[in-house]
Amino acid sequence: KSGKDDSGVSGRVRVAVRLRPRNAEELAADADFADCVELLPELKRLKLRKNNWDCETYQFDEVLTETASQKRVYEVVAKPVVESVLEGYNGTVMAYGQTGTGKTFTLGRLGEEDCADRGIMVRAMEDILADISPEHDTLTVSYLQLYMETVQDLLAPERDNIAIVEDPKTGDVSLPGTTLVELKDQKSFLELLQTGEANRFASNTKLNTESSRSHALLLVNVKRSAKNKQEKDFVIHNENGNSVHVSKGHRVPTIRKSKLLIVDLAGSERVDKSAGSEGHQLEEAKAINLSLTSLGKCINALAENSPHVPTRDSKLTRLLRDSFGGTARTSLIITIGPSPRHRGETSSTILFGQRAM
Ligand code: ADP
Ligand code: MG
Repeated sequence: KSGKDDSGVSGRVRVAVRLRPRNAEELAADADFADCVELLPELKRLKLRKNNWDCETYQFDEVLTETASQKRVYEVVAKPVVESVLEGYNGTVMAYGQTGTGKTFTLGRLGEEDCADRGIMVRAMEDILADISPEHDTLTVSYLQLYMETVQDLLAPERDNIAIVEDPKTGDVSLPGTTLVELKDQKSFLELLQTGEANRFASNTKLNTESSRSHALLLVNVKRSAKNKQEKDFVIHNENGNSVHVSKGHRVPTIRKSKLLIVDLAGSERVDKSAGSEGHQLEEAKAINLSLTSLGKCINALAENSPHVPTRDSKLTRLLRDSFGGTARTSLIITIGPSPRHRGETSSTILFGQRAM
């Protein structure tokens, strides 16, 4: 495809697909049915059944079966992004899929300490905390919800209309007034996530909606001074992406700032207009549709190496603006379920992932 760079890597967006295991209901109800997909992880292929005879085959960067561990999912989907954030580049990890297919399980699962179920947010923070130096580096975290085109601070839920401000010179995106918690250890991070989740639940109850109807965004800012890296030669990149070689022994007053965004997207399922959704529900559906459609367009533009990424159309893409393109890394995990009953939604999720490659 058009979006291959010199190293033969397809596109700028890495796309993995993850299949959720059958749940109790699916085991009981669909026991006699075949799953609607068949995964060929070694070939990184997925077959979507059309009927008993026919199937369509799709290629991904990574195919994660229902037995893939959370550890493996982290290593494949998020670790490369986390590593490049620690080197000074912006990065994004996003989960896209129908409600109930495992987006929050994949990204937001807390798990007990050392528990195998820990999700991407928790594992990413473990790796970041292990790598940074408490004397030279600072780590700050914000946790936000994007609902009906408004940004809410999940750590101070009364701040429910946060502006997205873009620096006209650098293109950097900032969110004035958002709580920035400076983190030193994993325990305070887990507390922060729990507080955010509780606030999200309370505010969604007040708004009479489900968490699946909004996007949750964890924003991790890493600020490093280069001092602690000077024992060996290394190459840094300035704002314009130019590399500057730094020899050992030299004092480098450079401060490198980068950020990691982990985005648990709203459920991608289409709300059926004919099925009686109206008023508020319909407005909700329109807002989700707008943001996911414009996200799709941006990811598509990135995959095709287009010089113009159309980020203006929605709050979600405006928020992601400085995490897209250039030296930034993006990883998309699309989550699907096995049930043939949701074949239509599964198919549209797969197509969203394919367009990103
Ligand atoms: P979503 O966030 O996409 O709506 P959830 O993450 O809430 O979906 O997952 C729905 C249910 O399926 C939850 O009960 C979750 O624990 C379970 N689940 C999802 N993915 C997996 C998995 N890979 N292994 C085991 N259980 C899973
Ligand atoms: Mg969820």
